[in-house]
Amino acid sequence: MSDPSHGALLRDGKSKKVFAVAGDDAHVIVHYKDDATAFNGVKHALIADKGAVNAALNWHLMKMVEVKTGMASHLVRKLSEREQLCRRVAIVPVEVVVRNIVAGSAAKRFGREEGELLPFPMVEFFLKSDELGDPPMSDVHALAFGWAEQWELEYFRFAALKVNAALKDFWSDLGVDLVDFKLEFGRTPEGHLLLADEITPDGCRLWEKGSRRKLDKDVFRRDLGDLSDTYREVYQRVFGEQFTGAVQ
Ligand code: C5P
Repeated sequence: MSDPSHGALLRDGKSKKVFAVAGDDAHVIVHYKDDATAFNGVKHALIADKGAVNAALNWHLMKMVEVKTGMASHLVRKLSEREQLCRRVAIVPVEVVVRNIVAGSAAKRFGREEGELLPFPMVEFFLKSDELGDPPMSDVHALAFGWAEQWELEYFRFAALKVNAALKDFWSDLGVDLVDFKLEFGRTPEGHLLLADEITPDGCRLWEKGSRRKLDKDVFRRDLGDLSDTYREVYQRVFGEQFTGAVQ
């Protein structure tokens, strides 16, 4: 299989770039950048090796989820340390968040203590909109404003819980509690839903069991230490070896 060549830059996002594939409308090239942003882009920094570490983690975690849940993702093939060939999908503007432990906006919005263990995994929907700061929404908003259909929302809830079960077990075996995470889904031209975007510590909260030390982007958001070191530690836990830059 020859390597696809980069077409136009379709999107320069906060942590990834997406390129068209020359002569191929069915795929895109996703490029992981070293940029970290928080508070809707207000805080920004370059984090050494973050793109390569997150690309490796994303491939490993999404593939593990595919195998454990039987669900399909947009991933097709690794191209390099930072680039992955993916199915071209239309991203559904509904961010699907699963929480096992209260943290972040759930603590703020509802006046709950961070660290409260939830009696069951909580699935929430947010509108994917940088201009509006990703407001929380419920089914009625998604349906009335045409962002998703009822069956899609039901699938998101079902899929999110299956992904949560797979990820929770995976992290637990590595001595880490999965506090919460965000998923995005994409529609294929045939109307099928694929797990899309990424599964990395940028979009998850990961706490070391016992100490509750943070192993995710909250280290950057809350100035708790060096994010590059944190992500390397996550890499080491997942792959059992230090990050050297070699493609996993
Ligand atoms: O901010 P909040 O507590 O709602 O975030 C819940 C989870 O979703 C966190 O793991 C966070 O990293 C992730 N998230 C994300 N992208 C967003 C909003 C939240 O990855 N735009």
